[in-house]
Amino acid sequence: MNIYENEQDHLPKISEAELSDEQVMEELHAIREELGDKLVVLGHHYQQDDVISLADHTGDSLQLAREAAKLDAEYIIFCGVHFMAETADMLSAPHQKVILPDMNAGCTMADMANRVEIDRAWENIKKATSAKITPITYINCSALLKDFVGANDGAICTSSNAKKVIEWALEHGEKLLFFPDQHLGRNTCFDLGIPLDEMIVYNPNMQNGGVTPEQIQKAKVILWYGYCSVHQGFTKAQVEQIKKDDPETTVIVHPECSFDVVQAADMDGSTSHIINTVKNAPAGSKWAIGTEINLVNRLANEFSDKKIVSLSPYQCLCATMYRVRPRWLLESFRSIKRGEPINVISVSEEVKKNSLKALERMLKIS
Ligand code: SF4
Repeated sequence: MNIYENEQDHLPKISEAELSDEQVMEELHAIREELGDKLVVLGHHYQQDDVISLADHTGDSLQLAREAAKLDAEYIIFCGVHFMAETADMLSAPHQKVILPDMNAGCTMADMANRVEIDRAWENIKKATSAKITPITYINCSALLKDFVGANDGAICTSSNAKKVIEWALEHGEKLLFFPDQHLGRNTCFDLGIPLDEMIVYNPNMQNGGVTPEQIQKAKVILWYGYCSVHQGFTKAQVEQIKKDDPETTVIVHPECSFDVVQAADMDGSTSHIINTVKNAPAGSKWAIGTEINLVNRLANEFSDKKIVSLSPYQCLCATMYRVRPRWLLESFRSIKRGEPINVISVSEEVKKNSLKALERMLKIS
């Protein structure tokens, strides 16, 4: 099955010898003005500041997906990673073009589940049990997996609405197959009252996923083994150290962090939840945040009346998000100006049909 139509390779990048960073920003602003309403820039919260300064709308995956569905502009430049641009393309109108400034901006978690593995796992699981299983995919996955859940009566979720979507799934079926992020699945299901011994991890790199038919029969939730390397980097020891150094610091983490970290933290929630919690906190409050470093630094600058630090002493940077840089963005802007847009993300109609079903179900539930 073909996922993409018309996807093109990016052209050679503008070098620093050719244009300085300042010149790049100047030209970006000039082209932007010239193109006016024809172009809209969406920026994920984990993007670097220069890129965010050019964004018309910023948000997490859910906010940007909703935004993409409302836009009218002919060109939507998506400053984020591949699966987000695919989602935007699925939700946008046929006359609109979604552009990803760097085709190598992927998501390591999304890459941990592919359609062949999911089809094989589904077959194994179905062989082991006749119970009704609802597949749920985190939005961080390729269009082919969204197509899979749409075709199998499942839904998509984001970290903002995972609880609602999983509640719906549990009312709808007897078991849940959740992919690709085991941590979001485990943390959310535990919050909903499902004990850990009713959850198993399916690892496609092991024979039969590393689980027996009896384990599948007993489990309420089957979690795919995937994880986000950025969020999995936070540790329980870091939470304990922060609390030991200053018990007044509130630790808030993203639910892509491991179970131990989420349990040890004071609060957890999606990127939007983290932003709103910190924004509404009183001046003088102290926060240690377990999420991507660009966002933590931006919050620290924006809310300088509060003390905001990263939970980790190491740079928890999403290297793939970081691939989108202003000079790569300029390539996209120039290509639109020439009337020959590059890096257009276009999901095939075949894949779009069921994916949209699953996306629309998510938007309805949330
Ligand atoms: S932060 Fe993690 S889940 Fe988000 S895009 Fe980067 S690798 Fe993927």
